[in-house]
Amino acid sequence: RAKEAGKAQFARYSTELQAAAQKRLDLHNALARALARDEFELHYQPICRIDDGRPQVTTVEALLRWRRNGRLESPLQFIPALEESGEIIAVGDWVLREACRQTRHWQLSGQEGLCCSVNLSSRQLLQPGFAQRVAAILRESGLRPTCLMLEITESLLMQDSAETLACLRELAVLGVRLALDDFGTGYSSLGYLKRFPLQILKVDRSFIGGAPDDPELNAISRAIIGLGRSLGLEVVAEGVEDPAHLDFLLGQDCRYAQGYWFSRPRPPAMLEPLLLGEEGFEGEGCLPGPATR
Ligand code: C2E
Ligand code: MG
Ligand code: MG
Ligand code: MG
Repeated sequence: RAKEAGKAQFARYSTELQAAAQKRLDLHNALARALARDEFELHYQPICRIDDGRPQVTTVEALLRWRRNGRLESPLQFIPALEESGEIIAVGDWVLREACRQTRHWQLSGQEGLCCSVNLSSRQLLQPGFAQRVAAILRESGLRPTCLMLEITESLLMQDSAETLACLRELAVLGVRLALDDFGTGYSSLGYLKRFPLQILKVDRSFIGGAPDDPELNAISRAIIGLGRSLGLEVVAEGVEDPAHLDFLLGQDCRYAQGYWFSRPRPPAMLEPLLLGEEGFEGEGCLPGPATR
């Protein structure tokens, strides 16, 4: 009896393993064709200057989406697979070209000072000649280097290789700005802030979200913002979802913010009314007040 039950269980496990392996294989195969089939698209989320009266969109962060069988897949679902297969290099190249092209197009249609921000994987940065590739993409698009911001993560800096540092220095020399994304979530070493040529610190949304109500998250957020500012960095607060978050930030020396309160990431055509000021921020629409009822 025990032997029979064991056999049945083994068969079930092996079917489950096979199904998981098949799913992984399908994902990799589908991703390998996705670029050629034009299935990737970029959505954009505004980053706003907040310390100057009414918030102003200064930058848009490009966020990758994959349209697979009519559904939009989140980057969290497929970026790891792209990194594993090495396809992140070709896809990342496409992201950079498309984001620079779109931003230059917006500049030429009236948003003169608009900048864009693009997320990088370590595989991209470690490819030989990456900084020169970025320079070529900028030339091709006509976007000024100072209008491009590149977001890297702490895990990338953790590898702390001479190659990484050399590449970041080359990028900085081009005039491209470098941001440290999701700050505070990785194995942060504050030494990174001095060793690498960074200009921007993005405070992770896990801190900002709790800052108005949780005394500890409040203290941590204030400390991170203060640290960034005293090192001469611009600080962007991520994950601003409601007016309490914004109020908290306005009391700090934090000049930039991003989050659903301003806008969720949108396809380019849907972002335009917001860029043009024809439409308010998403959070303004839900403010309780006499006009809403
Ligand atoms: P990220 O760079 O930290 O981007 C911000 C993520 O937080 C986005 O998720 C955005 O939709 C979400 N977000 C923004 N505001 C709020 C908010 O107020 N509340 C909440 N709950 N979430 C907010 P998304 O688009 O799913 O991207 C996830 C991650 O995937 C990104 O995190 C980034 O690390 C990575 N990623 C996206 N596009 C690319 C890309 O082109 N290349 C690479 N290498 N990574 C990318
Ligand atoms: Mg980012
Ligand atoms: Mg982030
Ligand atoms: Mg993040």
